[in-house]
Amino acid sequence: MPLQSLPMNKYFSPVTALLITLLSFHPFSGAVNKVNDGPYIFLKDSSLSIHWICNNKLTSESYEIAHFPLSLNYCDLNAKITNLNPVEDNQLVFEGDYQVAAFSDVHGQFDLMIALLTNNHIIDSQGNWAFGKGHLVITGDIFDRGNKVTQALWFLYYLEQQAEAKGGKVHLLLGNHEVMVLNGDLRYLHPMYVETVNLLNTPYEELYAKNSVLGAWLRTKPVLVKVNNMLFAHGGFHPTLAVNKVDLTTINTVFKQNLVKKELTAPREGFGEYLHKKDGVIWYRGYFKDNGASTKEIDLLLTHFQVNTLVVGHTSQKEIETRHQGKVIAIDASMKEGKYGEILFIDKDKKWRGTLQGDKKAL
Ligand code: ZN
Repeated sequence: MPLQSLPMNKYFSPVTALLITLLSFHPFSGAVNKVNDGPYIFLKDSSLSIHWICNNKLTSESYEIAHFPLSLNYCDLNAKITNLNPVEDNQLVFEGDYQVAAFSDVHGQFDLMIALLTNNHIIDSQGNWAFGKGHLVITGDIFDRGNKVTQALWFLYYLEQQAEAKGGKVHLLLGNHEVMVLNGDLRYLHPMYVETVNLLNTPYEELYAKNSVLGAWLRTKPVLVKVNNMLFAHGGFHPTLAVNKVDLTTINTVFKQNLVKKELTAPREGFGEYLHKKDGVIWYRGYFKDNGASTKEIDLLLTHFQVNTLVVGHTSQKEIETRHQGKVIAIDASMKEGKYGEILFIDKDKKWRGTLQGDKKAL
């Protein structure tokens, strides 16, 4: 491939540019023709700077901050802005008499996510919250691989508001791909976003900067949540955390304090660095390896965190599966392939899988 055909520019390192180019030639990734993307919205002084791309054409406008919710719709790209000052999700433990549903690793497969949620009655046919007082947990990795990341984020951003209004809850947890993108690691970016970056003349990670509506919102999200005796995270909890008796608040707080490297006053070190590396909560795969965590260590984790189940994404399976006699549930059912996905349901002591078509299957 001729060097000049690489999407090399000031926003991508040569290695990232090469990877993105190779991906764009991958037979399954499809041609990058029509780009519809956005809106990307930034808070500047007392106005909103709004940018969107319809048919590869960039439009930008500025809004005086007025009334919320502010509904925007351009070439089927929807955004409803509800609040410009999202607050940190500090509550990590929830208990109540409601159903819980969970899925993971959307990876830009917005249409698949909508089908999964609609067919399983989490949302209605108009895309509105239909899960009542239920809690919906998404264990991260909305970003990368697919080309409808922006749509998925705006959808969840508003679904969270809708759920709250009905007495329900959406818990969006951070995965390694959220953290990679916020830190400018763009190895898995869909090639379509190269066009977005070029048209907006802004590095991709800056589209999710602190002063962007979605970037500010993402920075409020936790890395774990405990709901009714179940503990959720993207990768999982290394047994060392139980041995060292580290509590959930400490894990989340230290993780969040070390989220975006260039926003830190000092480099990540010690426990903060550990939590962001391979044994940390967004990268850990030890429940799925022969030489990983033993069932005894899983029991230690369950006792320490006072839960009966660990629910994790990140390590892809064909469908939702259990490990260690059901003490670990793997909910990354490979939505990233763009073909299938599943959602886990928990109602008191009953658990089942919801298929893409909305059928109930035994776990
Ligand atoms: Zn992951």
